[in-house]
Amino acid sequence: MANPMADEMRRFKGSDEKNPFEAMSERFDRAAQLLGLDEDLYRVMRVPSREIKVYIPVRMDTGHIEVFEGFRVQHNFARGPAKGGIRYAPDVSLDEVKALSAWMTWKCAVVNVPFGGGKGGIICNPQQMSLGELERMTRRYTAELIDFIGPDKDVPAPDMNTNEQTMAWIMDTFSMHARHTVTAVVTGKPVALGGSLGRREATGRGVLITVNEAIKRFGLTPDKTSVIVQGSGNVGGIGAQLMYDTGYKVMGISDVAGGIYNPNGLNIPHVLEYWAQNRSFDDYPDVEHVSNKDLLEIECDVLAPCATENQITSENADRIKCKILAEGANGPTTPKADKILHEKGIFVIPDILCNAGGVTVSYFEWVQDRMGYFWPEAQVNERLADKMIASFNELAHFAEKHNVDSRTAAYMLAIDRVAYDTRMRGIYA
Ligand code: NAD
Repeated sequence: MANPMADEMRRFKGSDEKNPFEAMSERFDRAAQLLGLDEDLYRVMRVPSREIKVYIPVRMDTGHIEVFEGFRVQHNFARGPAKGGIRYAPDVSLDEVKALSAWMTWKCAVVNVPFGGGKGGIICNPQQMSLGELERMTRRYTAELIDFIGPDKDVPAPDMNTNEQTMAWIMDTFSMHARHTVTAVVTGKPVALGGSLGRREATGRGVLITVNEAIKRFGLTPDKTSVIVQGSGNVGGIGAQLMYDTGYKVMGISDVAGGIYNPNGLNIPHVLEYWAQNRSFDDYPDVEHVSNKDLLEIECDVLAPCATENQITSENADRIKCKILAEGANGPTTPKADKILHEKGIFVIPDILCNAGGVTVSYFEWVQDRMGYFWPEAQVNERLADKMIASFNELAHFAEKHNVDSRTAAYMLAIDRVAYDTRMRGIYA
C-alpha cells in the first residue's frame, strides 16, 4: 500500500531549510508519525482548507491605478473560525502565508481556544505608501474577501506592518457591506472600537509568563536570570519591558539594523524611549554595538528571538549559548537547528506556545465583542496567565509522557486535538 506520509517526507527531504511551509510540514510529519495519525486524517490535515489569491486595484496618490497581489489562506476550521493576522511586506509569499496559517491552527489548539488557523498577506512596500493608499488597499482587499471572512468564518488580526488602524478600516469596510457594525470580524482593533484592554501587550506578556514557568525548571528566579531579546517591536519591545519590570537582567536588544549589549543589564524603559525618538540604536551610549547575528550568540540564560523567521539555523545553532530559548517570533528556528539545540540540552519554549498570548487575548476580544460586555485589564491579564500556565504545564506533561522534546510535544498535542475534533465531526468526503 502506498504510504503518503513517506512520499511527502521524501518530497521535502533535501529541500531548503528556510522555506517556512516546508519547516512546518517537516515538524507536522514527525508529530503525525509519533501519534500514529491515520492516513486519511493525515492527508486532510496536512494541507490548507482554502487558499485565496486576490488582485487588488488601488488608485495611487498620483492618480494612476496600481494592482497589488494579496492572499488569504484558511488552513483549518475543525475547531472554529479561521484566525490569524495579515502581513504587508514586499517579500511576503503564498508559501509563507500557508506556513503561518498552519502555525495558527496548531497555536490555537495548543492554548485550547476554539479557532482554526488563517493568515493573510499583501505584496507591497508599506513604508513607501501614503496613509490614503494603505487605506484604499486595505478596504479593497477586504471587499475582495467579503464572502470569506466574518465572526463565524475567519477573523483577521494585525501582523507585521499592519496595526490597529488597519483593523479599524477592515471592520468599517466589512460593516458597510453588512449594513450594520460588526466589531467581531477582526481583533487587535482600537479599544474604543471594540478592542480588548491588554491586547497590545498580550504577546509580550505571554512570553514573560512562559519564561517565568521555564526558569523554575532550572531553579532560577528573575533576579538571577539574564536575557537577550532579538527585536524591539510589539513582541520584543513589550516582552523586554515586562521582563525588566519583573526583575530580569535584560542584557541585549536589537532592531533590524543591529543590537546593543551591556553585560550589567540595560535600562529597558530608557532604551525603548530612545528608540522611539531616534528610530535607531546606532548612537545609544555606554553599550557594545553588535550585529543581530552576534547578539544571538551571546551567553545568557534566556534567549528570546522576537523578530522574524529563520534566525537560528544549522549555521549558527551550535554557537547558541542559552539555557532557554523563548520563541516570541513565529518560526525563528529551523528543523535542522532544532536537532542541534536538542543535543546541546537547550530547553525550547516553542513559538506555538510562547507567542500564543496574542491569539489568546484576541479570543477574549472576540468573546467580549459578541457579548457586548468588556472586561477590566486585570481580568484579561489574569485569564491570559491562567491559560498560558495551564498550556505550559500540559505541554510539559505531554513531553514527559511521550518522551519527546517540547516542540514535538507542542505539535503532537495540537495535532491530537484537531484530529480528535475532525474525527468526531467526520470527514465530509
Ligand atoms: P514588529 O514589526 O512590531 O517588530 C519586529 C521587530 O523585529 C522590529 O524591532 C524590527 O526592527 C525587527 N526585525 C524585523 N526584521 C528583522 C530581521 N530580519 N532581523 C532582525 N530584526 C528584525 O513585529 P511584531 O508584532 O513584534 O512581530 C514579531 C514576530 O512575532 C513575528 O514573527 C510575528 O509573526 C510574531 N508574532 C507577533 C504577534 C503579535 O501579537 N504582534 C503574535 C504572535 C507572533
